[in-house]
Amino acid sequence: MRLSVLGSGAAFSGCGCNAGYLVDGAVLVDCGAPVNVMAHRLRATVSDVRLILLTHFHADHTFGLPMVLGALSSRRRDDRAPLVIAGPVGTREYVQRLLLAGYGTHILGLVGSEVQPDYVALQDGSDVELAGYRVRAHAVVHSTGPSLAYALTDAAGATVGFSGDSTQCAGLLRALSGCDAFVCECTGWDGPVPGGHLWAGEVEQLVRAHPRTTFVLSHMDERRELRGALVAHDLLTLDIAPRAEEQG
Ligand SMILES: [Zn+2]
Repeated sequence: MRLSVLGSGAAFSGCGCNAGYLVDGAVLVDCGAPVNVMAHRLRATVSDVRLILLTHFHADHTFGLPMVLGALSSRRRDDRAPLVIAGPVGTREYVQRLLLAGYGTHILGLVGSEVQPDYVALQDGSDVELAGYRVRAHAVVHSTGPSLAYALTDAAGATVGFSGDSTQCAGLLRALSGCDAFVCECTGWDGPVPGGHLWAGEVEQLVRAHPRTTFVLSHMDERRELRGALVAHDLLTLDIAPRAEEQG
């Protein structure tokens, strides 16, 4: 499984683009980054994206969607894969509102008629097959609800998790369990940050408690080092092999 970081910066920081992660060029997790541009830099294309997974409805995780869906609506149907957009309950309505606010009824209509996304609502405990991946969703506590963390498993058994934005809560630990790699927000470094986020002191505990999981820190206010974890940068790409069965 190939994981690429499109954006590693927290909402209002300048240290990286906003949230966005590409798995195998086929799954886009969150869409706050300028996805069309970043995918191009990875020699990927949004035409190959079959699944968009949203963790929650904040701007730094979603405001790139009109550009991605607009790009898809202008491509020939046989040049791209069928698209599933999955996220918390209300995803369809939220995405349609974004399209309407961004480009009015024209693009909204084109996305409906040309892209024809299949919307899937996920909630705590959802365990579904989407676009050839097993997707498990876990409710996490953030400043807005509903918010989900995900664990995504490919056909070879490799699992990558995504914290989304979260406090240190039970859902976060469930998402993390058994992951070969975990993309973990690490918004602050010097102490707790407001808004329902993880900071380095909490992330350090998670890293120590899960020594077999590769932690990829993202959604950062600034980039620093954290022992035992990888600190993401935009366009960081990792190949992740399954090893969860060794974790016991
Ligand atoms: Zn965020």
